[in-house]
Amino acid sequence: MQSGNTKYIWELLNSVPDPEIPVISVVELGVVRDVTFKDNSFKICITPTYSGCPAVKTFTDDIKTCLVENGINNFKIELVYSPAWTTDWMSEKTKEKLKKFGIAPPAKVVLCPLCSSQNTQLISEFGATACKAMHKCLDCLEPFEAFKCI
Ligand SMILES: [Zn+2]
Repeated sequence: MQSGNTKYIWELLNSVPDPEIPVISVVELGVVRDVTFKDNSFKICITPTYSGCPAVKTFTDDIKTCLVENGINNFKIELVYSPAWTTDWMSEKTKEKLKKFGIAPPAKVVLCPLCSSQNTQLISEFGATACKAMHKCLDCLEPFEAFKCI
C-alpha cells in the first residue's frame, strides 16, 4: 500500500492515454491539475478540456481503471472547472507529439502537420471530436485535423 506517494500517482496517470489522441497522456494534455494526499486518500483534480466534452467520462473512467489495476483504491476524482483548461497548458513536447501524430497543435496560425505550410484553410469547425477542427493544406492538398486553440 502506497502511503501518500503522489509522485507514484503522477507516474501512473502519465501512462493513461488521452482517449482521443492515444500518443499523449492525460497528464501531457494538461487535464490533471493536482494530486494531493489527505486523510489516507488521494485526491486527483481534473479539469476537462471542454465542459461537455464527451471524452471527460472516458478519461475519468480510464484513470480509475488504471489506479485500481495498480492497487490504488483510496482515491477520489474531483472535477475542477475553474480556471478553465486552456491549450497553453500543453507543453511544447506535447505539441510536437501531436504534430507527429498528424494533428496540427493549437496555435494562432495553423501549420500543416505534414509540410509545415502556413497556407491552410479551415474546412469545418468540427473535426472528429469537438476539440478539433478540419483544415486543408493548400500546398500539399492534404486534409488534416487541428487542435483548437482555446
Ligand atoms: Zn501541407
